[in-house]
Amino acid sequence: MMLRLLALSLFLVSGVPGAAWGGKGHRIIASASVRGLPRVVGAWFSGQEGMVVEHASDPDHWRRDRKEPPRHFINSDVYGGPSSVPLTPDEAIDQIGARRFQKTGQLPWTVQDQVRSLASAFRDRDRGRVLLETSYLSHYVGDLHVPLHTISNYDGKDTGQRGVHSRWETGLVERYVEPSSLRILPTTQGRTTLQSPWRWLQETYSLSSLVLADDRAAGRGRGKRRGGAYWPLFWQAQGSIVKGQLERAGQRTGDLIVLAWEMGGKPKA
Ligand SMILES: [Zn+2]
Repeated sequence: MMLRLLALSLFLVSGVPGAAWGGKGHRIIASASVRGLPRVVGAWFSGQEGMVVEHASDPDHWRRDRKEPPRHFINSDVYGGPSSVPLTPDEAIDQIGARRFQKTGQLPWTVQDQVRSLASAFRDRDRGRVLLETSYLSHYVGDLHVPLHTISNYDGKDTGQRGVHSRWETGLVERYVEPSSLRILPTTQGRTTLQSPWRWLQETYSLSSLVLADDRAAGRGRGKRRGGAYWPLFWQAQGSIVKGQLERAGQRTGDLIVLAWEMGGKPKA
């Protein structure tokens, strides 16, 4: 018991990212993911988009289970960078040890698990589960497109930029993103595999230093006291990246829905 308490308190001290994208961003991604589907898969979601959208933030409400928070991020620098993140949890534990594995985050494996859960729902032809598992999948794929969810300095603590996490993923999205201005990108048809999240991780990670640099330039890192110019400056620098990541997350969730449907035997709705 002591050990478990100690592990939990160390875990809390080490800190984890908060709710990525806020509710608005996750709703946008969930909605886009089902709207870009090919017709035969999209039929499973016909008239049910609202249900997929409604549950898109559910995984952020499961955080009282201590196994849940690490499922939303991965500090890929701990592995030496995103291209060194192993493909299996066993290899990851071999590389950094079980305790660090827990603290370092498990986002790409969580996405994989979620695809398998969705595939099983398709195989069972259980529409209720298909809708919910899709919703949860869109959440974790969304988190994988937040640059600060891929680095240890996820909230700017090491660089005097505390709060940058919510400024990027909630502050900018709430203030500036007009959902109707985003493109619904159709699925890419057949190029996505269970290993694709590792490629996406590299791409998302590559944006993280620019997020920090632009936040610094817009507010010059002065804690929470920011001048009125901060928000428009930060949006000017990061707006196209925020919108691009939301669009890509929607499209890639769609790609994984198609993959899960194929894994589940391509059932007719
Ligand atoms: Zn999350």
